Amino acid sequence: MTLSSNKTEPTTLLVDKFGRRVDYIRLSVTDRCDFRCVYCMTEEMTFLPRAQVLSLEELYLVGKAFVDLGVTKIRLTGGEPLVRTNVMTLIKQLGSLSGLQELLLTTNGAQLDKYALPLREAGVNRINVSIDSLDADRFKRISRVGKLEKVLQGIDAAIAAGFDKIKLNSVIMRGYNEDEVVGLAEYALDRDIDIAFIEEMPLGDASDHAREETTCSNAWVREVLETRFQLSDSEAKTAGPSRYTDVAGYSSRIAFISPVTHNFCEDCNRVRVTVEGRLLLCLGNEHSMDLRAILRAEDFTEEKLRAAIVAAMDLKPERHYFYEKDYAQPVRLMNMTGG
Ligand code: SAM
Ligand code: SF4
Repeated sequence: MTLSSNKTEPTTLLVDKFGRRVDYIRLSVTDRCDFRCVYCMTEEMTFLPRAQVLSLEELYLVGKAFVDLGVTKIRLTGGEPLVRTNVMTLIKQLGSLSGLQELLLTTNGAQLDKYALPLREAGVNRINVSIDSLDADRFKRISRVGKLEKVLQGIDAAIAAGFDKIKLNSVIMRGYNEDEVVGLAEYALDRDIDIAFIEEMPLGDASDHAREETTCSNAWVREVLETRFQLSDSEAKTAGPSRYTDVAGYSSRIAFISPVTHNFCEDCNRVRVTVEGRLLLCLGNEHSMDLRAILRAEDFTEEKLRAAIVAAMDLKPERHYFYEKDYAQPVRLMNMTGG
């Protein structure tokens, strides 16, 4: 593990026109996935042609440019990052960047039994594993193809690998898994790992349901949790959208990510890069900059890439407007956006 342990005041050169400092990127390493979760993908997916996808070398150059500009935290996501061929090469390179303080990965866990230890050794500090049900049939219904058993083995392997932090992500949807809120929380807390409940976002059309009918507010999820646990708002704040609660009698925490009912844009510190090299300034808007064109230009230099990223900060919109009137919702599905 070669990540810098320098936790002194980081200085990012990336500041948007509302004065928000960007020190966190989510880098999507593939749009492909071995699952087809109902809230994220349609059943029949067409993935990007290879030529449109950034190479591992290009992804590294993007990560490096952001770190050179003061970004201290990179989350690798997708699609499913662990289905990208030779992804470990990229992860090792990023893990060696001096200046990077945290390298994180979000995964569906299906291959984590094999990858947990190599990821830890490559410098990944924290890992998020998505799990929406503890019932094998239901798990399959939600992921359309996933095997619960494999994900549970993956979580055990992640615990054994000794990451600084493991967090489970659960999207709660009416008609699918709304009766599993307490069970999922117990599963996490009993293992001393955190769990975040995420509201389903209207990104692209879900083909199996109408999102307005399935979306559960986190206020409702919290009420259900409070029938079993004593929750108190935590002072702890990570550089992300989660709001944490401490749970009496447990060492790990329950978090709420509420993009639909709670607008957290005011202190947004992050941007996303899609695997096509599109720098997306906001999850819920289309403002973007084409980094691939710069990477593939004949006169490419790292300096030009950095200059484009700095210039793009002016495009970051003030906030997102899910379900608010008169706003065009993004047509991007989450696997294209990078979760
Ligand atoms: N494949 C990995 C995984 O599932 O963890 C990483 C990518 S996935 C797009 C990242 C996160 O986005 C997952 O936790 C998933 O549950 C969440 N997600 C996907 N589509 C969503 C949606 N429409 N609303 C809310 N969360 C969503
Ligand atoms: Fe794949 Fe993750 Fe999307 Fe599920 S949420 S389909 S695992 S990218």
